[in-house]
Amino acid sequence: MNSDLRDLYQEVVLDHCRKPRNFGKLEGANRSAEGFNPLCGDRISVYVKLQQGAIEDIRFEGSGCAISKASASLMTGALKGKRMEEAEKLFHEFHLLVTEGPNEKIDPADLGKLVALSGVWEFPARVKCASLAWHTMKSALSDGGGTVTTEDPATV
Ligand code: ZN
Repeated sequence: MNSDLRDLYQEVVLDHCRKPRNFGKLEGANRSAEGFNPLCGDRISVYVKLQQGAIEDIRFEGSGCAISKASASLMTGALKGKRMEEAEKLFHEFHLLVTEGPNEKIDPADLGKLVALSGVWEFPARVKCASLAWHTMKSALSDGGGTVTTEDPATV
């Protein structure tokens, strides 16, 4: 990755960390879940308003490191208006991006601004920070709540 691109990505991450989008409780949410990453201390709650299989609205709150906050902020922006199966697909691609780095299995057009987190794959300790919001979102959609922790072997 060239250094201009890296700087740009860093800007996006810092901007979303300082001014998280979709931050705060969601009125009328019918799904929610909490997530915890004990390795870093990141905590997050994700609220979803699910309407006929589509994410009508999604918000989050919590506290954590810059990566976890920026990732949650970028995720909520990316998922608003998406159908559940599109959210699953995006999670899959995002997960590949942060664990393997950019590769041919990922369509950058799908990921949009989420590519700003592509540098994370070089720092394995931060992968859980980046994926926490997504695991929490998935739990909210699939089981209708509960608490997920990144120390669960199912969540890498
Ligand atoms: Zn973290």
